[in-house]
Amino acid sequence: MAFLECSACGSKFKGSSPQRVCGNCGCPLEFKYDIERLKTAKFIGRFSFWRYKHFMPRVKNFVSLGEGGTPLHKAKRLAKTVGMRDVYFKDETRNPTNSFRDRCAALLISNAVDLGYKSVICATNGNLGASLSAYCAKLGLFCHAVVPKNVDVGKLAQMLIYDAVIEEYGEIVDESLERAEEVAKETGWYQGSVELNPLAIEALKTIAYEVFEQIGVPEWFTVSMGSGGTLYAVWKGFKELEKIGKIDALPKMVGVQAEGCAPIVNAYIRNAEKPVLKAKPSTHALAILVKNPSYGSLALNAIKESKGLAVSVSDEEIFSAEREIARFEGIFAEPASAATYAAIKKLVNQGIIDETDKIVCLITGSGLKSTDVLQALTKKRKTAAVGLELSTKEKILRILSEKDAYGYELWKKLGKTMTRAAIYQHLNELSKNGLVTSYEGEGRKFFKITKRGEKVLRAFDDLKLLL
Ligand SMILES: [Zn+2]
Repeated sequence: MAFLECSACGSKFKGSSPQRVCGNCGCPLEFKYDIERLKTAKFIGRFSFWRYKHFMPRVKNFVSLGEGGTPLHKAKRLAKTVGMRDVYFKDETRNPTNSFRDRCAALLISNAVDLGYKSVICATNGNLGASLSAYCAKLGLFCHAVVPKNVDVGKLAQMLIYDAVIEEYGEIVDESLERAEEVAKETGWYQGSVELNPLAIEALKTIAYEVFEQIGVPEWFTVSMGSGGTLYAVWKGFKELEKIGKIDALPKMVGVQAEGCAPIVNAYIRNAEKPVLKAKPSTHALAILVKNPSYGSLALNAIKESKGLAVSVSDEEIFSAEREIARFEGIFAEPASAATYAAIKKLVNQGIIDETDKIVCLITGSGLKSTDVLQALTKKRKTAAVGLELSTKEKILRILSEKDAYGYELWKKLGKTMTRAAIYQHLNELSKNGLVTSYEGEGRKFFKITKRGEKVLRAFDDLKLLL
């Protein structure tokens, strides 16, 4: 029922092996289906990835770690802050290795097993490598992951524990891809790179099928873009649902990139047909750091055909969106996918998205995998610890600026939240720095703020105005 068709010349090929380009013209191939037969196909079994097996190329050996069937959360609190009603997060962090790439791994590794492969190679920015190495581990296959210089440390940790061989090659994933293609040719290993295996698109389109079953068709569907493959896959999913008569409307696709790496967005803005490349692209959202997006033209067409938009957001906007999604909705998204919400905020503010519109943001992976976020949070923890100490000393100074006091009195006034020994420790340090002095009276030791102490207290007040 499934076959491969050339996106340029229309040549057709049998769709069992992971062939990526047309034998006649060299353009990318994609899977197509006999629509009449697809119309009679059914979703099978519980809400999970393989429920849609009849809408993907045929598989004999089904491999699974429990992927797909991910929740779609209505973001009530966060939506309210931007005056929206219907914002949803498709939470792909809930997959077995905490990213949407587990869908790809399930289908690709099933295909590799069907075809009798023992080794798999891929080029990866991280999530795909983590997914493929986990699924390879389950099946006892060998996994070789080619990664660029900068990879999120959590993703590397996953590849290591699943026992993949990691080869560092190139500055960014584009170079790793060339290497993976070369190695596959030399060794005859199964090609697991998303950009080099059209099955990946078929796996990812199930995200559209699931959202359709969860809330129908939203007005807007927001996806961050590295190679552009994910946006294209979601669009392909909705188009198929339309062709087989399950839906009669399509979402407007919003493609989001980081300002420092926006070849597809720049093409959209300049009305160019192909991605506009930059010599040295950069962003801290490593999962979408791709120089030359393989699915760029297809993603661009999808955005235009859907009457959607391509938007870029700064790294700063991305990280603040990540914090907001976590604080308001309890979802820890990786920076690349938090970019979707950053874009939504922008479009709502510009009046492009209507407050009653239904919006889905695709949260592709977990923030726990991301180096920058973890480092920033650890730093924050350290400052928080210092901040707490300062605030206790500040409180003591404030109490003493009203009236001299003895230790027990201070302890009571501070709400008995710490040991008395800790209070005396603070008082010791304060007097060492000349901020308080002590004297004996009524058989007790009284503490008194010094001139210097009062000065420091005023400085605190000034600082507070600044912060
Ligand atoms: Zn062709």
